[in-house]
Amino acid sequence: MTDLFNDYRMTIDGELVDSPDRIDVINPANEQVICTVPAASEDDLDRAVAAAKHAFHDWRALPLGERQRMVSALGDAIDAYAEDFMRLLTMEQGKARAGAEWEIGGSVAWCRAIAEQSLEPDLVEDGPERRVETLRVPLGVVGAITPWNFPLLLAVWKIAPALVTGNTMVLKPSPYTPLCTLKLGEIAQGILPAGVLNILSGNDALGAAITAHPDIAKISFTGSTATGRKIMAAASGDLKRITLELGGNDPAIVLPDVDPQQVAQDIFWAAFQNSAQFCVAAKRVYIHEDVYDAVRDALVAYSAKVKVGDGSQQGTDLGPIQNKMQFEKVKDLLADTAALGVPVLTGGAASQGPGYFIPVTLIDNPPEDSRVVREEAFGPVLPLLRFTDIDDVVQRANDTEYGLAASVWSADTEKARAIAGRIEAGTVWINEVHIFGPHIAFGGHKQSGMGVENALEGLAEYTNPQTIITRKHVLIT
Ligand code: NAD
Repeated sequence: MTDLFNDYRMTIDGELVDSPDRIDVINPANEQVICTVPAASEDDLDRAVAAAKHAFHDWRALPLGERQRMVSALGDAIDAYAEDFMRLLTMEQGKARAGAEWEIGGSVAWCRAIAEQSLEPDLVEDGPERRVETLRVPLGVVGAITPWNFPLLLAVWKIAPALVTGNTMVLKPSPYTPLCTLKLGEIAQGILPAGVLNILSGNDALGAAITAHPDIAKISFTGSTATGRKIMAAASGDLKRITLELGGNDPAIVLPDVDPQQVAQDIFWAAFQNSAQFCVAAKRVYIHEDVYDAVRDALVAYSAKVKVGDGSQQGTDLGPIQNKMQFEKVKDLLADTAALGVPVLTGGAASQGPGYFIPVTLIDNPPEDSRVVREEAFGPVLPLLRFTDIDDVVQRANDTEYGLAASVWSADTEKARAIAGRIEAGTVWINEVHIFGPHIAFGGHKQSGMGVENALEGLAEYTNPQTIITRKHVLIT
C-alpha cells in the first residue's frame, strides 16, 4: 500500500530519487507549506533521458496489446487510490471535491480508453507490381511538461497515447502542483518496465532544459502561450516534434431566444468551473441586447448561491486561485478593471487571506479594448458584453490571437450551428461546454496551440509516418 501523503520522490529508471535542492509546495487555501519536493538537477535529467532512451528499444518492440494492457492497468492503479488522489489534488491544487472527482475519474477513464486505441497500417497500394504501406512508428523519448490547473488529468492525456504508441517519457509537472504526478510515477513502477515513464519535479528552468535536450524527440506541452512560443523556438534547434496546448480567451455567444435563467446557470459554470483556471473557460460572454439585462441579473443572482472557500471543506463549490503568482496577476487585472469606471456587478476585491481567494466577479459591459476583455484572466473575473448584430459579434469573437474554444447558446440549434461554423476556434460547443473525450480531437487554432490531443489524431502526434514500398518482382542480374 503506497502512502500518497508522504515521501515525494522523483522516478528515474524505475528508482525513487531524491535531491538536496527542494521546492516548497503550498496549499493555496491556507498558504501553508504542505511539504517540499526534490528539484531535479541537470544530471537527474540526463539520467532520466538516458533511461528512457535505453527503455525505448524494448518498449517499442513489445506487442501493442502488451503496452495497451499496461496503460489500462495504470488507470486501474489510479482508480485503486482514487480517494487519496482526490484529497491530495484538493490539497495541492485547491479545487473543490466535485472538481477533484471529475479530474481523477477522467484520468482513470482516459487510461482505459486510450489503451483501446491503435493506429492501423494504411495499405495504400497492393497491385501486381508493388505493395505500398504507411505505418506509424514511435518517435523515441517524449518530453512532457504540464501546468497547475489539471495536473493529473493533463499528464495522463500525454502519458497514455505516448506509451501506447511505443514511446518512452520524461515528464515534468508544474512546480506548483507536483504531488499527484510524483505519486503516479511511483505507482507506475509496479506496472511499467524501468525507464519507460520517468517523472522529474523542477522549476521552469528544468522545462527549458527538457526542451533543449538533444536526446528528446518530441515535446508535448500544456501551458501558457508565452511559454509555448519559447518551446517552439527551442525545439527548432533539432526539429523536435511539438504538440502545444496553450491559452485561450473563449467567447460565449448568447442569442435572444434563450431561457435567461437556464442559460445564466450554464454560463456560470462554463466560466467559473475550477475557479476559472481553465484553458477553455468562457472568458467573454456576448449577450444579445434583448436578453442582456435578464441574463445579467440571473447571473448575479446565481453567483450569490455559490460558495467560494477551502476546497477540502464540505459545501465549497469553488476553491482559491492556485498560486500567489496567478493571484497577483488577477488582482492586477481587477485593479485595471476598477479604473475603467464600469459597474462591477458582484465581487471585485480579493480576500485578505490567508488563502488566494478571489470572489466571483462580473463586469457590466466593459469596453471591447479593455484588458478584462482582451486578456486571458485565468481567474474568476468575467466581462459581460452587449451585442445586437450577428456579423458584429462574430467579428468581435474572432478578434483575438487565441482560438481555443467557444460556445453558442440558442433554442435554434441550426442557427447556432451556422454561427459556430464562423468561429475561429478548435472546439465550438452549442448549448453546453467542456465536453471532452478520449475519442474527441482537442486542439487550438491560431496562438492557442499546435497539433491536437485525444482521438486518433492525438495518437498520431506521437508517431512518424513510415512508408514501406516493396517491388514484387525479384531483380535477376
Ligand atoms: P506556464 O506556461 O507558466 O507553465 C506550464 C509548464 O511549463 C510548467 O510546468 C512550467 O514549469 C513549464 N515552463 C515554464 N517555462 C518554461 C520554459 N521556458 N520551457 C519549458 N517549460 C517551461 O503555464 P501555467 O501558468 O502553468 O498554466 C496556465 C496556462 O496554461 C494558461 O494560459 C492556460 O490557458 C494554459 N492551459 C492550456 C490548456 C490547453 O489544453 N490548451 C490546458 C490547461 C492550461
